[in-house]
Amino acid sequence: MEFNAYAKLNLTLDILRKREDGYHDLQMVMQSIDLCDRLTLSPARGEGEMRTNLAYLPADGRNLAQMAAEAFRRATGKGGAVDIAIEKNIPVCAGMGGGSSDAAAVLRAMNELTGAGLSLMELAGIGQNVGSDVPYCVLGGTALAEGRGEILTPLPALPRCHVVVCKPAFPISTPQLFARVNVRRITCRPDTPGLIAALEAGDLLGVARRMYNVFEDVLEPRRRSEIDAIKSVLIDSGALGASMSGSGPTVFGLFDREDTAREAFGRLSGLYKAVYLCQTV
Ligand code: ATP
Repeated sequence: MEFNAYAKLNLTLDILRKREDGYHDLQMVMQSIDLCDRLTLSPARGEGEMRTNLAYLPADGRNLAQMAAEAFRRATGKGGAVDIAIEKNIPVCAGMGGGSSDAAAVLRAMNELTGAGLSLMELAGIGQNVGSDVPYCVLGGTALAEGRGEILTPLPALPRCHVVVCKPAFPISTPQLFARVNVRRITCRPDTPGLIAALEAGDLLGVARRMYNVFEDVLEPRRRSEIDAIKSVLIDSGALGASMSGSGPTVFGLFDREDTAREAFGRLSGLYKAVYLCQTV
């Protein structure tokens, strides 16, 4: 059986506090887009094999998709070994939750294939042991994720719009970014309640104007300049708002018009290899 695993974007990312266990309490409004990996699951003859079209990704028990299959079997006692093939289209280490989305798709697929009949929230609960973004990816759509990402509240859907996504080539280390954040010194935060009110009112411009990611403030200056330059191209082309997703380096803009989205896509495609013209899911 074939399944889509959709990429996610952070409309907001806020860090509320550092916890005693060393993790941070986050508050994030998430959105799925139609850029997706394709997963094929089939009953295995042997122990279960993995294949991906990216040679550098682990194709064994370290792959989040296989970890999810194992977590599902442990939690439910159902489902034999499966072969999993992943066609990766979501950029890796991009802040778009690609691995988490693959894991979430496996959980949903195994629920369907075994007839286990778990609710999405139950599957999300299994997913939290696989990765922090997995619970949201199980749910998908527009949602608020809090805690480490496991406390989920579905939100009214973002009004349909065009999304231009651009991933610059430099890597960003998520642990290093967290280490640089001093929660008491965060001066600029997203207006999360205001953004949720805008979602409730179906006000796309109100959502786009309130998007913000606190990680942008702690990027190294030259990385920050590049992120800002991409945001400027998006805004210049007519984006209603632009922000970095997750721990970056992906930047995206929301557009109410297809022609302006295409213009931004064209301009950024001339500068970067990984540029996508998407829609929300
Ligand atoms: P997030 O937005 O959730 O922080 P990300 O976009 O930064 O995620 P991913 O692309 O999901 O990062 O994955 C990053 C790491 O996970 C890589 O080191 C990769 O080797 C490992 N990984 C394991 N399984 C997968 C998978 N199925 N797809 C992508 N990466 C995977």
